[in-house]
Amino acid sequence: MTALAEAGRALAAEAARYAGMGWMRGTSGNLSVVLDRDPLRLAVTASGLDKGELTETDVVEVDAEGGAVSGGVPSAEAGLHARIAAISGAGAVVHVHALAPVLAAQRWPGGVPLRDLEMLKGFGRAAHDDLVTVPVIDNGQDMRVLGEAFQRGYRADTPALIVARHGIYVWGADLREARHRLECLEWLLRFTLGTILDGS
Ligand SMILES: [Zn+2]
Repeated sequence: MTALAEAGRALAAEAARYAGMGWMRGTSGNLSVVLDRDPLRLAVTASGLDKGELTETDVVEVDAEGGAVSGGVPSAEAGLHARIAAISGAGAVVHVHALAPVLAAQRWPGGVPLRDLEMLKGFGRAAHDDLVTVPVIDNGQDMRVLGEAFQRGYRADTPALIVARHGIYVWGADLREARHRLECLEWLLRFTLGTILDGS
């Protein structure tokens, strides 16, 4: 099996899992893994497909700008995946349209503050006395503009980015680490929203 097909199989399995959680509704969201660093090459889920039904062939190899290297139509958001992988050094980037991050960005457009929660450990941060601010950038269709906004607010210790009125990106050394971070962060955002809505 080629490296691209192997990546495609891993991406399909992850996408099915996220689709089952309701975080990749319709054809939304996209996932990627780094295939090569120099020059940068990523395997990204193909565009416009049901994320619960991907197979190992529903994957496209892209370059540092998110352009297809050898056929296929990558997700329109592949350019932002590539920028995140280049700047952060991550081996995998996941992007889903979960609801909690979008609601949180609506409430805290300048960045979502999180602190003093055990689940922050699952995001790679401390459970006490460690203010985590998840960056929020404006939505748009030009991935270079989104990439610049991401880079301006980038912090190595905060492996997530919320795109307002859109969704969230989380990254890690591999797909599993990215998933663990996303799952924990989604919980944190839900908790934070819930306590605000309760007025507590
Ligand atoms: Zn999206």
